[in-house]
Amino acid sequence: MTEFFIYSKRCFINDKFIESTLHIKNNKIHCIHSGIYKASKIPFLDYTNLIVMPGIIDAHVHINEPGRETWEGFDTATKAAAIGGVTTLIEMPLNASPVTTNIDAFKLKQEASKGKLHVNCGFYGGVIPSNKADIEGLINAGVFGIKGFLTHSGIDEFPNVSKTDLEAIAPILKQYNIPLLLHCELADDNVPEVVNPKSYHEYIQSRPQHWETNAINLALEIQKQFDIKVHIVHLSASAGIERIKQRKEKTDKLTVETCPQYLYFNAEEIPDASPIFKCAPPIREKANNDKLWTFLLDDGFNFLASDHSPAPPERKQLESGDFFKAWGGISGLQFTLPVVYSESKKRGLQIEKLISLLTKKPAEFLGIDSEKGALVAGFDADITVWDDLEELVISEDSIQHKHKATPYLNEMVFGKVIHTFVNGAHVVENSKLKNLRAGRILLKE
Ligand SMILES: [Zn+2]
Repeated sequence: MTEFFIYSKRCFINDKFIESTLHIKNNKIHCIHSGIYKASKIPFLDYTNLIVMPGIIDAHVHINEPGRETWEGFDTATKAAAIGGVTTLIEMPLNASPVTTNIDAFKLKQEASKGKLHVNCGFYGGVIPSNKADIEGLINAGVFGIKGFLTHSGIDEFPNVSKTDLEAIAPILKQYNIPLLLHCELADDNVPEVVNPKSYHEYIQSRPQHWETNAINLALEIQKQFDIKVHIVHLSASAGIERIKQRKEKTDKLTVETCPQYLYFNAEEIPDASPIFKCAPPIREKANNDKLWTFLLDDGFNFLASDHSPAPPERKQLESGDFFKAWGGISGLQFTLPVVYSESKKRGLQIEKLISLLTKKPAEFLGIDSEKGALVAGFDADITVWDDLEELVISEDSIQHKHKATPYLNEMVFGKVIHTFVNGAHVVENSKLKNLRAGRILLKE
């Protein structure tokens, strides 16, 4: 049993900073005292000048285990998460083998995570053309949503679905009120021929905005037709914003996320022959990304998520520089907070809003907001403590992901995570891993 106090002048409570003392007991926030509060024999952790906030909830992470643990695994991914202040993550149904498209695979996935979770971990199930009969079982087994692709996923065992496939499962999703998460790109041949596969400009042109907007149209149709929850993952095309906005005015069942890479990098700065930056949909030009920022500042995005999707360096084609042969995915789970915070300072996003986009908002989306995502008495003691003033360079030796290859290497950022508590355990102390295996499997009730 653990019992201790955490004190700060800036505890993030009810969407604002308040000088408070959190009393942690039995893995929970037992109660919250305003101001400074001490009692004899109970350890007092004094974080006066640091920000104390709910742990980050990353609702979009690819971990690759079982089957592709040479890409990433539960041990390394959740260590990186903890060091980055992430206390809960939700794992995607693809890139592991088997993919999570039936209940047996879901059991294997949970089995593979045992003894390796340093933060809390939940899961999504996947929809492919052949698994309509498995969807209900996955939902009953506790997945947080069902994810599908509208274009080739990059993983042959996870083929994309058609509108007809989605129509077939929509009534099940409706019955259980479970979100359908869609990778919104709809491929067509209306793209220029590739001349130089090392050209980043040609890579962007190969995945144009109209692929995203056509897919978003389909997502909106399905949402409207069946009145189900539809979530658009990793929006990159600003051309999609207006139609999303219009639909969001009519329903709260449409949600949308974007990711640090689309908010932090711009195509103009990405050199040719550098597929470390390859993801799909691609990082687009500054003018596009400025519009994503306007939408973010306008409260348009429901939350932010990393879409951590790592691969071994040889798969990223770092030597050949070929964008078209490289694996598409950005490795960045550990760096969401400093990356987005640094850019937020430039763009004028209030720190209070940023924290909410990383904690309370994803908790609401996942339906875990009665126990996580806020500092409230009775909630789980998942807490992140960080220094918003510290400036640092992301160095190779700080990276906990299985592979060091990340586009964030050598970036100068603001914000350093100092302590992470997971279920009341002090997992990261003074920016170093201390207590391991404090994470739990989360299942949707
Ligand atoms: Zn993803």
